[in-house]
Amino acid sequence: MSGKTVLVSGAGIAGSAVAFWLRRFGFVPTVVERSAAPRPGGHAVDLRGASKDVVERMGLLDAVRERALHERGMAMVDARGRRRAEMPAEAFDGRGAVAEIEILRGDLAEILVAATGDGVEYRYGDHITALEQDADGVRVRFASGREQRFDLVVGADGSHSAVRALVFGPEADHTHPLGAYTAHYSISAERATADGLDRDDWFVVHNAPGRRMVGTRPDRDGGVKAMYVLGADGVDEAVLRDPTAQRALLHERFAGMGWQTPALLAAMDTAEDFYFDAYTQVKMPTWVGGRVVLLGDAGYCPSPASGQGTNLALVGAYVLAGELAAAGGDPAGLAAYESAMREYVERNQKLMPGGVGAMIPKSAPAIRMGHLLNRVMMSRPLRPLAARAFAAEDPFTPRDYAAEPTSPTRCT
Ligand SMILES: Cc1cc2nc3c(=O)[nH]c(=O)nc-3n(C[C@H](O)[C@H](O)[C@H](O)COP(=O)(O)OP(=O)(O)OC[C@H]3O[C@@H](n4cnc5c(N)ncnc54)[C@H](O)[C@@H]3O)c2cc1C
Repeated sequence: MSGKTVLVSGAGIAGSAVAFWLRRFGFVPTVVERSAAPRPGGHAVDLRGASKDVVERMGLLDAVRERALHERGMAMVDARGRRRAEMPAEAFDGRGAVAEIEILRGDLAEILVAATGDGVEYRYGDHITALEQDADGVRVRFASGREQRFDLVVGADGSHSAVRALVFGPEADHTHPLGAYTAHYSISAERATADGLDRDDWFVVHNAPGRRMVGTRPDRDGGVKAMYVLGADGVDEAVLRDPTAQRALLHERFAGMGWQTPALLAAMDTAEDFYFDAYTQVKMPTWVGGRVVLLGDAGYCPSPASGQGTNLALVGAYVLAGELAAAGGDPAGLAAYESAMREYVERNQKLMPGGVGAMIPKSAPAIRMGHLLNRVMMSRPLRPLAARAFAAEDPFTPRDYAAEPTSPTRCT
């Protein structure tokens, strides 16, 4: 099997993690990434349960811990900035809203790309335009004009996956919008200081009637990560293709909101890493189409509302490479990956009770009820019950592929 070539589309979390494992199991991976350079940015993502185990098996847990954020918990504030409820990180042993390990998405992607080493070729600024499969492989055409054959192709190109569109059909056939949009961007330490923004190492959120939430999380360098969630009602979907309209929408919807919202909105116009997308889940009857397979958000985006996207991407990458190695590189390994992951994915796509609606309640009484529920959950009599619910969240232990005799010798 050694030497089988695999093209991975997307150098995000899933793509770089699968390249790492494929290389370790003796494949020859090439990663093509549409962006001209590694994509920085993104908020804190959680590592918990199985994904923490996978990162440990990669030997990267120390590197991740070194870059981890030290968020003290999540707090809900009112329009005057008064704390209405809070959930300290230690309250549920790091299994609550703020996980034991929180790391900026961009930092995690950087660690993963660096860890893949010299054996993986990354091609930035290019993307797949056509795929043609036959019995022995896949002929791939790239936007750059290059053409090349690979034994297998992995679509790890995110929730708007181009590989999915080419092999499985249009995006709308597989995506389930959750009725909300999200936006986020970074504010530098200097700007945050100048604008008097709080930086107290908490994940702070403020809700206002009309399905609006604005929040801040600490950045690693003393800056602030701003985030918004808003109801999609009445918004033309065309906004998804127009960053100017996205900023205008946020200015309009969040105008007049209290707390630090005016300063956060003012900083948005000059933010370099502004990101806007719909809260959407990807659900597909299969992730395998011949010699092409989908991984991470491309095949089963659970949406940021679940907090599980990075977890599924890391675990899926390990299981995909492991099952392919166990199958000696035969495409049958793709189906084995799907059957090993399917139930776990479906479990992690389940949202908290109330779904996205609970994050962005419609009315002032519903917002107050959310604060009250949080305080009740944190109360002395109920905290142990809530802790048990959080502790049971992720009972999944992938096979130890690296230790199995079917796995080929490690590459060095
Ligand atoms: C810039 C950015 C910021 C994010 N911020 C957050 C956040 O704050 N919170 C959160 O919960 N989730 C965030 N996400 C999503 C989160 O990273 C994923 O849900 C999760 O980690 C699963 O990772 P993934 O690798 O499947 O997808 P992604 O991390 O989305 O990676 C997909 C990669 O594929 C690349 N790509 C896209 N189209 C093509 C193409 N046609 N050809 C080649 N490459 C392509 C993208 O540039 C990206 O590098 C963010 C994603 C990105 C890209």
